[in-house]
Amino acid sequence: MTARELTGHSLIAGRTVAGTGSTFNAIDPATGDVLAPDYSQIDVDQLREATAAADEAFASFSSLSPDTHAAFLDAVADEIEQIRDAIIERAAQETGLPVARLTGEVGRTTGQLRMFAGVVRSGLFRGVRVDPALPDRTPAPRVDIRQRKLPLGPVAVFGASNFPLAFSTAGGDTASALAAGCPVIFKAHSSHPGTSELVAGAISRAVASNDLHPGVFSAIFGPGRTVGQALVTDPVIQAVGFTGSRSGGLSLVQAAQSRPVPIPVYAEMSSVNPVFIFPGALEDGLEDLAAAYVASAVGSSGQLCTQPGSVFVPAGEKGDAFVAAVSAAIEKSVGQTMLSPSIAGAWREGAATRDDHADVSARGTEGEGPNAPAPVIHSTSIEKFVSNEVLQGEIFGAASLIVRYADVSELPAAAERLEGQLTATLQLADSDAPQAAALIPVLERKAGRILANGWPTGVEVGHAMVHGGPFPATSDSRTTSVGSLAIERFLRPVAYQNLPDALLPAPLQNSNPWGVPRLVDGSLEG
Ligand code: NAP
Repeated sequence: MTARELTGHSLIAGRTVAGTGSTFNAIDPATGDVLAPDYSQIDVDQLREATAAADEAFASFSSLSPDTHAAFLDAVADEIEQIRDAIIERAAQETGLPVARLTGEVGRTTGQLRMFAGVVRSGLFRGVRVDPALPDRTPAPRVDIRQRKLPLGPVAVFGASNFPLAFSTAGGDTASALAAGCPVIFKAHSSHPGTSELVAGAISRAVASNDLHPGVFSAIFGPGRTVGQALVTDPVIQAVGFTGSRSGGLSLVQAAQSRPVPIPVYAEMSSVNPVFIFPGALEDGLEDLAAAYVASAVGSSGQLCTQPGSVFVPAGEKGDAFVAAVSAAIEKSVGQTMLSPSIAGAWREGAATRDDHADVSARGTEGEGPNAPAPVIHSTSIEKFVSNEVLQGEIFGAASLIVRYADVSELPAAAERLEGQLTATLQLADSDAPQAAALIPVLERKAGRILANGWPTGVEVGHAMVHGGPFPATSDSRTTSVGSLAIERFLRPVAYQNLPDALLPAPLQNSNPWGVPRLVDGSLEG
């Protein structure tokens, strides 16, 4: 399918379904133009077709052999690559994101899918543990107990506005849920429906070509507040993945908790990603450090969940020189088109509120078009920062707050005041290590990832990554939404006691026909 062949309809269990509700259109945020086609929104009855199909698909999809399962994930990546150019062209129109950024995002999306294919082949995620019977143990014999992890059931995924590919239709939430063996119902974000439809088509083709039940995947268009809520409260749905606003995430958590049978919601919401610059870091290369900060703060128009929203800078000459270098770079910067008129509007409101609470260090110039506000850096003292909650919150976009401190001993107490974060960053020299050591225990309680001498934007997708953190960074600090560990969100352990070998699932049978890694009596087998 190319962008010209977009239908404007939901894709429910492999069928194109025209919604009976009102229509909406994507808007090109660079020009304000309305983009064709009209998108029809489904109603709650039509939603039930998707959840019923997902329910039906669960039994066969959750018990696929590793080879078939992994081949499907690889096929989704292949199908996306087949239409890469059409996806990038449409996503650029719908989001205003540059082609280079979107090209990288396609690679990240297909890379994630292939990484999860590898996870499925390796079998480690099945968490197999075998405690063999010890009939001669005294004083009491031990029974045979075997454990494995099973997929939860059909999962609802809400696409993010700021990653139209890597956190959207076939993004990390969908890829990890499918890898776990959970059918997915994807609620498309209303700001990039065409991109969502193109990628949904790619997934559906992979479902069909691998002879899977069509209910394994559906992509729906509908208002979050009605259809999105109905999706989360549908008894078929067993877990939810979400990236977006704090209010949206919290309302889904509330809906999920109010169900007769509550379910987990993995919502990624809001983070200011504090950066602590220690005095030694300003001794050399101060200009480079300032340039790297500005690049991280304004790249992708600042619309990254790991954007450095507050940066702690020491008082004194070197700190002043750093702020001057940052200000000079910001003054030369030009606003880039934001994702949507509403996100640009929210940014303008947040930045105007900050004008009333902090000093403006520097402002760039507005970019072309209606939704490209001028980047801005504010500054304040550490005393004002800790006593003013307005200064501690996120402004989603190219705004950042410099917080000046007099002595490094003030940093742990200031960090204590922060909400939960996706990341916390240390910029330091060897000489700063003793003072930094005092801050790390506080940051471990606050953030999902602690990094040194880098910038938090640019999240590596791998096996050791954590993209998570305490509330409000996420609604469940025990998990990550990036990297192979994201699969854990959609699994639960089941133990089998004393079952005859023939009745055990394949990974638990004595002959281990799938060759999965197993912990036998507490030690890795083989
Ligand atoms: P959003 O408004 O939370 O929307 C995200 C998705 O959730 C959309 O599909 C939306 O559906 C749905 N939704 C929203 N409220 C809902 C509710 N009460 N019940 C059910 N579904 C609901 O987020 P956004 O449009 O991406 O951006 C808005 C703001 O979120 C930004 O200005 C920014 O502050 C924040 N944000 C933060 C991050 C981050 O990583 N920190 C990332 C993205 C956005 P509809 O579109 O149909 O309403």
